[in-house]
Order: sequence, then C-alpha cells, then structure tokens
Amino acid sequence: MKYSLVIPIYNEEKNLPELYRRISTIMNNMDGDAELILINDGSRDRSLQIFREFREKDSRVCYLSFARNFGHQIAVTAGLNFARGKVIVVLDGDLQDPPELIPSLIEKWRQGYQVVYAQRIKRHQESWLKKFPAFVYYRVLRSLADVEIPTDTGDFCLMDKSVVDLLNKMPETNRYIRGLRAWIGFRQTAVKFEREPRFAGEIQYTFAKSLALAINGLVSFSKVPLRLSTYVGLFAACVSLLMACLVLYWRIFYPESPLTGLAIIMMTIFFLGAVQLVSIGILGEYIGRIYEEVKGRPLYTLSEAVGFGERNKSL
Ligand code: UDP
Ligand code: MG
Repeated sequence: MKYSLVIPIYNEEKNLPELYRRISTIMNNMDGDAELILINDGSRDRSLQIFREFREKDSRVCYLSFARNFGHQIAVTAGLNFARGKVIVVLDGDLQDPPELIPSLIEKWRQGYQVVYAQRIKRHQESWLKKFPAFVYYRVLRSLADVEIPTDTGDFCLMDKSVVDLLNKMPETNRYIRGLRAWIGFRQTAVKFEREPRFAGEIQYTFAKSLALAINGLVSFSKVPLRLSTYVGLFAACVSLLMACLVLYWRIFYPESPLTGLAIIMMTIFFLGAVQLVSIGILGEYIGRIYEEVKGRPLYTLSEAVGFGERNKSL
C-alpha cells in the first residue's frame, strides 16, 4: 500500500457522493495502491450506509465506525491508527480541503519532506465571526506555544508513515493534532491553498467545539497561561504595597481627616476577586487535563472496522 487517505465524517451524507467522486479521480491517477479510510464519528444521518455502498463497489474504501461521537481530532487519530500507506493524507469530508491539492502535497513529499501541511491563504464564504477570531488565535498560539505551530493551518496535511507511527505512539487523550504534528519535527513544509466553502450540509464544528479545540491547543502546548496568574499576582502585590504606603502617609500627615474612597475599595475587591477566579479557572484547565490523562481510557470505541484484513477481528 502506498497511499492512505483519511477522512473523518460526521453527518456528511450530502457531501459523500461528491467527495467520493473527486477523491476516486485522484486515487485513479496515483502511482501506487491507495486506500480511502472513512471514519464515521457517530453520525446520525445516512453516512454509514453510504460508506457501505461505496465499499460494495470499490474495495479501496475501508471504514471505521465509532460507537458514538468522539470528535474530529479523535476520528482523525483512529484513521491514522489504521492507515497502512507509506504516505498518509488527512482531509475534511466537506470538500473545504480540495482533494485536487493532494498531488502537490505528494510532490513535496517526493522532494524529501516528511510533513506537508496545507496552509490557508484565503477562506471563501466564511463569516468574519469565524475568520477574525481564528486569525488572532493562531497568532497568539504561535507566540505562546513551546513549539512553532504554523499559522492558518488545519489538519489538512500529508504525513510520512514514520511521522504517523510517532503520532500513534502518543497516548494523550486531549489531542491537538496540528500541534503534535509540529512537535514531532522532521522536515516540514507548507503548500498554500484557498479554502473553499462547504460543498453542502451544515458546519459540524459548533462554536463550543471550536472554542474547546482552541483552548486545548493553548493548554496542551503552552504553560504561559499558568504563569500569567503569577505575574498578575506579583503586579497586584506591588500595587497593594504602594497603597499601603499611601495610607500610611495619609495617616501620619493628615491624622484628622478620615480616609474615604469606598468606590476604590469596592473596585479593588471585585478586580482581585475576578483575577482569582480566572486564575483558578486556568489552573482547572490544566488539572482537568491531568485528570483526563490519568484515567487512561481508550481514545475511542469502535462498533465496526471494515476493509482492514486481520485488524477487523481485533475489535
Ligand atoms: N467532524 C467530525 N466530528 C465532529 C465534528 C466534525 O468528524 O464532531 C468532521 C466533519 O465531518 C468534517 C470535519 O470534521 O469532515 C471538519 O468539520 P467542519 O467542516 O464542521 O468544521 P470546519 O473545520 O470546516 O470549521
Ligand atoms: Mg468544514
């Protein structure tokens, strides 16, 4: 097997026929055997039935089905676990990541890059409400993260089997694949592309899911938020010292006049209360992750794995 194409699917029945049409054209023109791995992330529509129909007429199609929705990152992880190709390409199932870019990714791989990620230079028909926070986020992440996570890249990428083997060895539950991929290193390069609008269907990444992914990226790759409360705490300590000096000065030089400033006191109490709550929240994010990781639960539960030979039986 030379190529594995990994596509996570959650309620994409409207996109699947067109996706298959475009992907199979690409696969037909590849210079080696290829497999298409579809992962059903607990879809509630006909996606899984459509996988079965594909499989009946095309033995290159293999699929996994989760016992429930585990989320996009975990779906990609499962696909990577099962991929057998020397070269693995990950893309979305809604045709926002154009399959026609795959040959240029492969071209870079031939030049000796182990990771080729697709970098968005433009997003078509996506609202400012998504684009602007994403723009800011990727830049904040780049400045805070311990590893250099390239801006404006998603999970659309090509990886060499050696990189995927390393990814598969990482046991962490809170997976931020684009970060882990950068962490691994080796020779990495970008291919620029314009992100197309969704072919059909609704966006599956709700605001809450996007926010969770964003926080996960920050917390998994940076300890700066933790330090932030230390810095704010130190700053507050300096301010309070200054205020103590002021009060002392007032008491010594104007002993008759009473100290006023209830508003300032209230504001200070509220401000410090807020700082403390935010700090506890940040701490909670990290502790929550420790808790998730020590439980050591499997990343997903499979109800079906079809087309993987011997591994079908390992369920
Ligand atoms: N997806 C998934 N599980 C989820 C949510 C999304 O497997 O819980 C898949 C979805 O089917 C699509 C990809 O992840 O193939 C990206 O999702 P979407 O297009 O909704 O998000 P975008 O990244 O475009 O904002
Ligand atoms: Mg999409």
